Parts: sequence; C-alpha cells; structure tokens
Amino acid sequence: MSIEDKLVKSVSPDFEERVFSRVFNIRRPSDRRPEAVLVAENEQDVADGVKWAKDNGLSVTVRSGGHSWAVWSVQNNTLLIDLEHLNKASFDEATGIASAGPSIQGGAQLDPFLAERGRFLNGGHCPPVGIGGFLLQGGQGWNQRGWGWAAEHIVALDVVNADGELIRCDATQNEDLYWAARGAGPSFPGIVVKFHLQTRERFTYLGHSVQMFELEDFDEAFTWLQEIEPTITDTVEIVAVSQTSPEGMFDTPRRVFIITAVALVNSREEAEAALAPFQLNPILDRAIVNEPCMESSLESHREMQLQMNPEDHRWYCDNMWVEGEFTTVTKSLKKLFTEVPSQKAFTIWMGNGLMRPLPDMAFSLQSPGYVSCYFVYEDEKDDQYYRTWLNDAMAEAQPVTVGQYLGDSDMTNRQLKFMADENYAKLQEIIAKRDPEGRFVRYLAADPATVNKNHWEL
Ligand SMILES: Cc1cc2nc3c(=O)[nH]c(=O)nc-3n(C[C@H](O)[C@H](O)[C@H](O)COP(=O)(O)OP(=O)(O)OC[C@H]3O[C@@H](n4cnc5c(N)ncnc54)[C@H](O)[C@@H]3O)c2cc1C
Repeated sequence: MSIEDKLVKSVSPDFEERVFSRVFNIRRPSDRRPEAVLVAENEQDVADGVKWAKDNGLSVTVRSGGHSWAVWSVQNNTLLIDLEHLNKASFDEATGIASAGPSIQGGAQLDPFLAERGRFLNGGHCPPVGIGGFLLQGGQGWNQRGWGWAAEHIVALDVVNADGELIRCDATQNEDLYWAARGAGPSFPGIVVKFHLQTRERFTYLGHSVQMFELEDFDEAFTWLQEIEPTITDTVEIVAVSQTSPEGMFDTPRRVFIITAVALVNSREEAEAALAPFQLNPILDRAIVNEPCMESSLESHREMQLQMNPEDHRWYCDNMWVEGEFTTVTKSLKKLFTEVPSQKAFTIWMGNGLMRPLPDMAFSLQSPGYVSCYFVYEDEKDDQYYRTWLNDAMAEAQPVTVGQYLGDSDMTNRQLKFMADENYAKLQEIIAKRDPEGRFVRYLAADPATVNKNHWEL
C-alpha cells in the first residue's frame, strides 16, 4: 500500500474521528484542522509521511499520547502523523536502558513493564499520558525534585528528520538534536520514533503522609510548607493540593487544603524517617486529617490520578513557576487555592526547593515551586467563565511568577517564558539549520513573535 493510500483526508467520513482520536481534552479547537491524517504502522510510515508532506508543501504535526491540553497535534496546513502504534518497549539487562515507542503510556504501560524487571523511570503521574510529548518538554515525573526531570534520563533517540531520514541522536552523534529533544517540546525539529531511557533500581516501599486543613488555615499551613520543603530528603515528593473533600467525608462536600508527601524508599523505617519532619507542622492540632506514614503503592496513586483526571471532560488549565519570599508567595496564590469556583477543579503546588543544577539541555527554567490549576467540567458554556477566572487568578500571582512549564501551557491564551534566553536562542539556531523549510510546526502561540517572554514584561 502506498503512503497516499494510508492517508485519511477531509473527504473521508472518518476524518473528524481520526483528527481527534485519542485527544484527551474534549474542549477542542474549532478553527484548526490538518489536511490529512496518517496513522503510522511503523517507522518507515513516519519517514514516508514526512516526505509526502514535503512533496505536498505541508508541515507536520505529531500525536503520541494525545494529552496535550491545548491539542497541539491539530493545526492548519499540516499532515498529522499519529504514532499510536509505536508503543512497544524493550529492556537491556546489561545497561538498564529501556527503549520505548513514543505513544506508550508512561504510567499505565511503561511503568508496569519496568516494575516486572525491578526498574523505575520517574515518569508522569497520570497513567495514560504518552511519553512522547511528556519527555520532549522536560517531564515532571515522580519525585522530580529529587531524581530530576524525566528528560534527563534520555540517553539516545531515534528521530525522523525533516528530510524523512531515520537518524540516531545522542551525546556523540547529532548532538544538537539530542540537546533540543530534552526540553524543546512541541517545537522539536523532528519526530522521535523511539526513546532510549536510563532506568533506576525500583524502590520497594512507598510511604504516604497526608495532612488536611480547612481553607482558613491555608496561609499558615502553606507558608510553613514552603519553609520546610527544601529541608526534606530527596526521596520524597511533596505536593499541596486545593480540592473538594473526598465523597462521604462531610455532609456537604467543601474545598480543603491538603499537604501530601510520598516517600519512595526501601523500608518502612526509611519512609517514617523521611516523612517525620511533617509532624513538626505547628498547626497540626487544627488538621482535619493527619496520617503520618500510610503504606501505599504506585497502583493506588494511579487510581487516585484517574479519579482526579477523568476522561470525556472539558479541561482548562494554566501554570507557573513561582519564586519569592514565602508569605508573598502565599498571598499571591491565595485566590488559586481558596476561591476556585468549581467543584471538580483542583490547584496543585509541587515543591522543587532542592533546585538541583540542570545538565546542558534545552530545558532550562525551573524555580522552587510549581503551581498549576485545572478546571474539569462538562458544559461548553462554562469555557469563557473559567478562562477569565483563571487568567485573573494567574494575574494576581504575577509578582511571584518566573515563567511556565510547557506541559501545562496554552500559548494561544497566555504567553510566558519557559526557557532560559540563551537556550531559546540556541534552539532557534538548531531549528533553522535542521528544518529550514518549516517541515515541523513551531510553538502554537497567539503571537509567535513574542514566544518565550512573560506577557507583562513586554
Ligand atoms: C491528565 C493529564 C495529566 C498530566 N500529568 C502530567 C505530569 O504528571 N507531568 C508532566 O510533566 N506533564 C503532565 N501532563 C502534561 C503532558 O505531559 C503534556 O500534555 C504532554 O505533551 C503529553 O504528551 P502526549 O504525547 O500524551 O501528547 P500529544 O498531544 O500526543 O503530544 C503533544 C505534542 O508533543 C509533540 N510530540 C509528541 N510526541 C512527539 C514525537 N514523538 N516526536 C516529536 N514531537 C512529539 C508534538 O508537538 C505534539 O503535538 C499531563 C497531561 C494530562 C492531560
């Protein structure tokens, strides 16, 4: 079958279905459509698709797991190459390197595969997210504060370049693409058809600390959390969440503030020691719930993630890297944590206060705290209200906002910095050299001329 025969074009009755197949966010663009969709069976199809796009004067977009909130894979004047079938994994016992196709689901598929081999990659929290988009934008995975960005574990990539050639990229060959792949996100000038990833020995015990507070305690609890977070050992992931109380807990569910910490270690004793500092919280007597160290598992955390991140919903989210004096940060984030006007919506803060130095790669912007707010809803008529509310709340946090993480961003709505200036300049040089004709789409932004700048600083 020729590549032409494998394309689904706009005249096909399947076209709309193929365009949005596997797209997680039901809030989809009405004004963007590709010219055709290619569901690649293998790497050769990907290469042939890029050549077909070149011959037909189109750019290329890619879908791995379909979890881009902003639906980056759907753009005008493009061939959309869907990598659904490139989802196999293999493992080399001698090196501990796992090789995996880009559409494998990090939590639901790759992690169980590695668990059977006693290995771990600190992949994403939500099970169905594809490793393709996740790794290219940095990858905020399990215990990122201690074990680094998931992209730091990429040792090599197999890439189809702008000429439709399959090439290997690592520290010694095609180094420029290896550098770019670790952070460029949706402006990477190529299609990754396989990732080679350094895994680590798997932890054997998971301890979970949970403290729940009423919203009136937010200021004190959150300011204290920021103070102690950098002192906690590097095997603990620390997250604060504003969410509606679990079903059945109160007669009428209400929003609460939760401090959670997960120790990924090798014994109960180790977990208890790692989580002990949380018991020093000076307002612990006001906690509605205090669980110092429950035994837990990644399976149960995955289940919780699936409940908080339901399919078949409309989503609106935005995010920021925050830095500042702790009480100022608390004040600036108060609206996002205490006034969210939707039952299913949630706001998170992830501690990154250890601030490990980053290796030389495109990904280059981080700060002591990461904040993201997610609206989860069903009715289209709420789109505008949630968007406006979130933009207002994000504006209140501008005094402590350093920039944003590509993974939770939508630059058609709000543009922020996501990369150090020198890294962004270097990336543009690599793109100009590797993809001079613009075969691959660039960042989808309201104003392409001001990408990588905080909009209020322009
Ligand atoms: C429910 C949910 C939970 C999430 N949790 C986390 C989390 O814990 N940590 C985190 O860091 N992020 C998280 N994210 C964000 C997520 O990592 C990003 O949206 C990421 O882009 C999704 O990757 P994907 O392959 O599934 O998406 P896709 O929509 O398939 O891809 C997004 C874009 O990435 C580029 N791309 C993807 N694959 C390739 C490839 N093989 N070659 C070249 N370019 C490619 C393309 O530009 C593509 O349009 C979450 C998202 C959702 C919806």
